[in-house]
Amino acid sequence: MKLSTKIILGMVAGVLVGALFNLLSAAGGFWTELSAWLVNSVFDVVGSIFVASLKLLVVPLVFVSLVCGSSAMGVNTRMGAMAVKTLGLYLVTTALAVTLALTFANLIDPGLGVDLAGTADFEPSAAPSVKEVLINIFPTNPVQAMAEGNMLQIIVFSILMGVAVIHSGEPGRRALELFQSFNEVIMTMVTFLMHLAPYGVFCLLAKLFSELGIGAILDLAKYFGTVVLVLLVHGIGVYSLLLKGLTGLNPVTFFKNVRPAMLFGFSTASSNATIPVTLNVVEKRIGVDNSIASFTVPLGATINMDGTSIMQGVATVFIAQAYGIDISLGGYLAVIATATLASIGTAGVPGVGLITLSMVLQQVGLPVEGIALIIGVDRLLDMIRTAVNITGDSMVSSVVGKSENRLDEAVFNEVSDRDTYEAEKQAG
Ligand code: ASP
Repeated sequence: MKLSTKIILGMVAGVLVGALFNLLSAAGGFWTELSAWLVNSVFDVVGSIFVASLKLLVVPLVFVSLVCGSSAMGVNTRMGAMAVKTLGLYLVTTALAVTLALTFANLIDPGLGVDLAGTADFEPSAAPSVKEVLINIFPTNPVQAMAEGNMLQIIVFSILMGVAVIHSGEPGRRALELFQSFNEVIMTMVTFLMHLAPYGVFCLLAKLFSELGIGAILDLAKYFGTVVLVLLVHGIGVYSLLLKGLTGLNPVTFFKNVRPAMLFGFSTASSNATIPVTLNVVEKRIGVDNSIASFTVPLGATINMDGTSIMQGVATVFIAQAYGIDISLGGYLAVIATATLASIGTAGVPGVGLITLSMVLQQVGLPVEGIALIIGVDRLLDMIRTAVNITGDSMVSSVVGKSENRLDEAVFNEVSDRDTYEAEKQAG
């Protein structure tokens, strides 16, 4: 059986078992105890270990891979052009995503008729300012940056190191060989981990759905439905058009290739934790060269959040309607700009999109407490939007790779039909 088929089976089984346990836990007596024990002592433990082992690989992988990538890139001095192209595409796709979200939300009116009584408490925590976000890109201490998993700082340090490697003559060459060997070793670790995914994913979803009441979703069905609709339109429609238009590559093949990363993103709700898988997929299945992917993927996981900005766009309209406040045209433009910036400031970990939403709401003078209205369904939406975030990173990586002539179409076309991953093949 293909690995992604196994992961999907794990997901479906996890949702079903979780939903069953949700019912059982209400039954009382033995069943309640049994389901509580299984959820806390088995599913939670296995699921948490799975996510931890994914996260474990992020920092070493990004560092080593980007040193290799930027030194390969530096030789051709295309680094600057590639970086500008990548940033530009990330920003444009995000702005497009918010615009789409605002348009759909205004057509569907998800917030009309919402009863504001019974809103939960929400303590808004401070969102980072644009200035802070900018200054924070530059590390003062690389070890600290790595210990804290500060992705942008790690990216800056790794690029510097990679560029220095190619300017260091013979010692640089020796260092590069070491980095390249390490890179292969870590990629093999990623492959190991991907084979545990069906079980990890099963446990994560079983735990989540055993706690998630279906009632929360029914109350907010219109908001939930609008966000999911726009996520689908953007994640499938817009990305297909952009990919086809900018590269001529077949979108169906693209989605087949990118599927494992989408599934990981969905299950973990974290772009960051998914970096190892996204990088593996973009390099080994889509065929983008390491010199591009090692830069575009971790950068995308950190600053490119199309799915998150879609949620923020719909949520803004929803909250405005629920409170009966009108947003002006200028207000909408401000939402587009702020949500695009907020997406840069949103860390790729679960639930942060909801925190940076307060930045957007404040910008247009909406009550931040409105966030309490949508908290109930956010975990599930977080999973879906993270899958879109990751697809966006992979799509832009493909476009940049293709435009720099560093996308191997033979790999792109072949891998979708292949059952296993490169490392597995090499291992015989
Ligand atoms: N969970 C999202 C991600 O990691 C961020 C968010 O929207 O909260 O991409």
